[in-house]
Amino acid sequence: MFNSLQDKLDKALHNISGRGKITEINVAETVKEIRRALVDADVNYKVAKDLTKRVQDKALGQNVLTSLTPGQLMTKIVHDELVNLMGGTHEGINLSGKPSVILIAGLQGSGKTTFSGKLANYLKQKRNKKPLLVACDVYRPAAIDQLKILGEQTGIPVYSEEGATNPSAIAENAVKFAKTNNHDVVIVDTAGRLAIDEQMMNEIKSVHYFIKPDETLFVVDSMTGQDAVNTAKAFNEALNFDGVVLTKLDGDTRGGAALTIRSVVEKPIKFISTGEKMEALDVFYPERMADRILG
Ligand code: GDP
Repeated sequence: MFNSLQDKLDKALHNISGRGKITEINVAETVKEIRRALVDADVNYKVAKDLTKRVQDKALGQNVLTSLTPGQLMTKIVHDELVNLMGGTHEGINLSGKPSVILIAGLQGSGKTTFSGKLANYLKQKRNKKPLLVACDVYRPAAIDQLKILGEQTGIPVYSEEGATNPSAIAENAVKFAKTNNHDVVIVDTAGRLAIDEQMMNEIKSVHYFIKPDETLFVVDSMTGQDAVNTAKAFNEALNFDGVVLTKLDGDTRGGAALTIRSVVEKPIKFISTGEKMEALDVFYPERMADRILG
């Protein structure tokens, strides 16, 4: 994960490690390299610039007060800033509803259906819940079959309505079904399009309006870099979602989406998906991610 970003940050921090003390000149050089590493990793330019400005101010400000070496000091400052950038602390999902309704939104191919299966599996295995999966993609029968396969693999029932054309009605019926069958969590997988269009946004807004989810999660493919951030903005404007799920972090992603999304849409990343297996799901902790990025 983030190999090239890791290497570049490591190099930038290594250069200052050899210096006896922090000076304005070597901090400025290091900060410039850090900024370049972040921008190369698809971090939004303004986000990278603001972060490195804070790193520079802190490094120069703390110089006399610390017993750390320049390398240790810069690494600590960059680490803390990365944690802050990703939201500081972990934020969980709201499971207080009876049942709790979770709406899954995102573009087609982002990993929604796979994530829906993983989330249901996680809630069953780790949180002792009795989830119901709901197939709401009325355009692609294959998507419904895919969810049913994941349901079979994980032993979680899937609600679907053959031939139905109204996703809001399916979702509402599913919530009623969950109540009568003692499911405490309802996970609604929705249809996605290849790009954002008005019809798609109106449809998901309507599902959102009718089922009033306790939690709306936006799923995004981390490999799509800057586009991931633009898509997040559009979905956030339409749905005011509660959290982000970053998928495909097992692939050759440069890391920009993970580092930029929080500060652009001001919503926390809640889960990261790292593979196609049902167990390949991690709760997101900013601290752990910063540790990984800095190696
Ligand atoms: P949807 O159209 O948004 O429902 O996306 P899918 O769940 O069908 O996923 C699209 C493709 O990405 C499928 O081939 C999945 O197996 C794959 N996929 C989903 N999540 C991950 C992930 O975290 N890592 C990897 N490597 N592949 C994933």
